[in-house]
Amino acid sequence: MERSTIQKQAVLEYLKGVKTHPSAEIIFSAVRKKLPTISHGTIYRILNTLKQKGEIIEVAKEPARFDADTSPHAHFVCQDCGKIYDVFDKNISLINKKTKIGKVQNFQIYLYGQCRKCGN
Ligand SMILES: [Zn+2]
Ligand SMILES: [Zn+2]
Repeated sequence: MERSTIQKQAVLEYLKGVKTHPSAEIIFSAVRKKLPTISHGTIYRILNTLKQKGEIIEVAKEPARFDADTSPHAHFVCQDCGKIYDVFDKNISLINKKTKIGKVQNFQIYLYGQCRKCGN
């Protein structure tokens, strides 16, 4: 297998195995354990390619975080610990359909609050 394919697969495999929506930095240190020679730049390039192909989605900004789950879901952002949780709800899938204005290609919904571990 080509080196770039192996690298791409390692990134995708790691992302598919976590639910934490890791940043590029975290993905880099995780993948480096498996592929010690991989560079920072390569990780960013792979993430960009995967994003453009629709195999992963970018969640949040500064720093960007990534998600290999591309099914319709919202994200709950805890304002205390910064964790991002997946929220699946059938109403969310309904939003991801045709609207009067046009067909929805993708969407992002963020819910902000305190997660159970942090609050009440
Ligand atoms: Zn929290
Ligand atoms: Zn998610």
